[in-house]
Amino acid sequence: MSATASSGPVGIFGGTFDPIHLGHLRTGFELLQLLSLAELRWIPVGDPGHREAPLASAELRLAMLRAAVADQPGFVVDDREMRRAGASFTIDTLEELRAELPGRPLCLVLGMDAFLGFTRWRRWQDILALAHLVVAHRPGWERPMEGELGGLLAARGTTLAADLHAATAGRIYVHAVTQLEISSTGLRDIITSGRDPRFLVPEPVRTIILETGCYARAP
Ligand code: ATP
Repeated sequence: MSATASSGPVGIFGGTFDPIHLGHLRTGFELLQLLSLAELRWIPVGDPGHREAPLASAELRLAMLRAAVADQPGFVVDDREMRRAGASFTIDTLEELRAELPGRPLCLVLGMDAFLGFTRWRRWQDILALAHLVVAHRPGWERPMEGELGGLLAARGTTLAADLHAATAGRIYVHAVTQLEISSTGLRDIITSGRDPRFLVPEPVRTIILETGCYARAP
C-alpha cells in the first residue's frame, strides 16, 4: 500500500465488491474530490458473516478492485479484511485504522441502503466514536426522518465538508451522488443470463469477468 498523505481525512469504502462497478467508483470519486479526502481506501469484505457468501473468490474480487482503481490517484486498495480470519466487522477495521492514523479524521462511506441498517451493525455507537459516516444517497432509497436513524441525522448531520476536517469522528454527512442505478446483484444477473456488462464496469474488470467466467452460469 502506498504511503498515506500526511493530512486530511481518510475515506473508507467497504463492500463486497462482487463485482466492483461504476456506481461504486463514481461515488468514491465524487467524495474524494468534494470532501478533499487525503485518500479513499477500498476495503473488500473477506467473510461477510451477516450476508450470503460472495460468488467470486476473495482473490478475484481483489484483482477486480485493483484493476478498477489502478489509474486513479488517491484510490488505495486495502485488503486487511481478506487477510483477517473469521467474519469481517467494520468496527475491527476502524479500531485498527484509528491506531495507525491517530488524530486523523476517518470517513466511513456507505450507501443509503446500508445506512438504513446501520443500527444493527456490531457496536455501531463505537463506530461513530471512531469515524464520521458519509452516506451516499442511492436511487430508490428514502432518507430516514424518524426513529433512531432520523434522530441520529438530526443530532449529528452536517452539510459542511469542513466539519469532517474539524473533528476526527462523529458527524454524518449525506451526499446526493450522481445517481447510477447499478448494483452488483443486477450485474451478476446480466452476466449469468449471457449478456455483456460493458459500460457498467471498467473495461479491465470486464476483461477479468469474461476471462475467468467467475459469474457464468454453472453448466
Ligand atoms: P449487491 O447488489 O450484491 O448488494 P452492491 O452493488 O450494493 O451489491 P456492495 O459491494 O454490497 O455493492 O456495496 C458496497 C457499498 O456501496 C454499500 O454501502 C452500497 O450501498 C454502496 N453502493 C453500491 N452500489 C452503489 C451505487 N450504484 N451508488 C452508490 N452507492 C452504491
